[in-house]
Amino acid sequence: MKEKQSVKELQPYVVNPVVCSVKLDANEGNKDLFKDLIKDIGDDFYLNLYPDDNYTQLKEAIVNYIGCKIENISVGNGSSELLDLCVKTFVDTNELILSLDPTFSMYSIYAKIVNSRYIGAGEGNDFIINVDDVIKSIKENDPKLTIICNPNNPTGTIIKRDDVLRIVKSTDNVVIVDEAYMEFSNESVVDEIENYDNLIVVKTMSKAFSMAGIRTGYLIANEELVKTIEKVRPPYNLNSISALLATKALKQKDKMLSYVENLKVEREKIYEKLLDMGVKAYKSGANFVFFSSKVDNLAEKLIDNDVLIRKFGGKLDNYYRVTVGSPKENEAFLNAMKKIV
Ligand SMILES: *Cc1c(COP(=O)(O)O)cnc(C)c1O
Repeated sequence: MKEKQSVKELQPYVVNPVVCSVKLDANEGNKDLFKDLIKDIGDDFYLNLYPDDNYTQLKEAIVNYIGCKIENISVGNGSSELLDLCVKTFVDTNELILSLDPTFSMYSIYAKIVNSRYIGAGEGNDFIINVDDVIKSIKENDPKLTIICNPNNPTGTIIKRDDVLRIVKSTDNVVIVDEAYMEFSNESVVDEIENYDNLIVVKTMSKAFSMAGIRTGYLIANEELVKTIEKVRPPYNLNSISALLATKALKQKDKMLSYVENLKVEREKIYEKLLDMGVKAYKSGANFVFFSSKVDNLAEKLIDNDVLIRKFGGKLDNYYRVTVGSPKENEAFLNAMKKIV
C-alpha cells in the first residue's frame, strides 16, 4: 500500500450499520420538519449549471438568520468539511491542535490526516469542562488551533459564553467554536466575531434544522479570516440542491424554533426518567442525553428492542448517548430501558 504514514495509522469514523425502527444514535432531527421543501424546488432550477460559487442567496439567508455581513460567511459540504478546511488552512505538519476531552472524535481524525499533533484538555468532574485547565493547557502548549465544541458532543455540557471568550482571549492563534448544537442552548458567541480576530464559529443545518441529509454547514468569522479560508475552499464545494433547500429552510426559522422548544421539553423528560430508573444521566444543552450504565451489553439489548443508540468505547466504556427523538420514539427508548435496567 502506498498511503502516507498518517493515513496508515488512521482508524476510520465508524457509523453503526444496524437498522432499528427507533433510530436515536446520530442526533438527527425531525424527519418531517422541512420535508415539504423538496416539492418546492421549481422549474427555474437547472441541474446542468454549476452552483453560484459565491452562494449569494444562501449567504443572504444566513445573514438574516445570524445578523452578520455576507463577507463574514463561508459555506461548506456539512460543517465537517469546514472543520477539515480550517485544519488545512491553519495547521502544518507537527503543529498542535487542542480540543476538549472528551469531545467529537472527528477533530482528532482531521488532525492526524495533516500530520499535526492533537491533545484534549479540560476534563472535569462529571464531564463539566474545567475552563481554567483549558486555558492553562493553551498557555503551556501554544496550540496552532483550538477547537471548542459548545454544547459539547458527546457529553452535552455547556460552556458559558464568557468562559468561551476567556478561552478565545487566552491565545493569538485561531479558536474555532463548533456550535452545531447551539440552537438547543443559549451561549452562542457568534455576535462576537468582529471583536476577536482569531474567532471562528462553525454552524450546521444538520441538527436543529433537521437537514443532515443535505450536508450543509457554514462558518462565521471576521472578513480577514474568511478570505484566508476561502483560498483553501474548493470551488462549488456545496451542491446547488443543498444550497437551495438550506436557503429556504433558513427563511422559516420559526418552524425550527418551535421544534427546538418541544425538543427541550422531551430532553428534560428523558433526563428525569433516566434518573428515576437509577441511571446516571448528565444534564444536556444539546439534542441528546449522555448517560452511563453498568448493564452488560446495554446497546445490544436495546437493539433487541428495536432501539438504536450510540455507545462509546475506550475511556468512555459504559457510556452512552441517546438522541432526543419524537415523543413516541423517546417513549419506546424509555420503555425498553425500564425493561432492561
Ligand atoms: C453533528 C455535528 C456536526 C455537524 O456536522 P455536519 O457535517 O454539519 O453534519 C458538527 N460538529 C459536531 C460536534 C457534531 O456533533
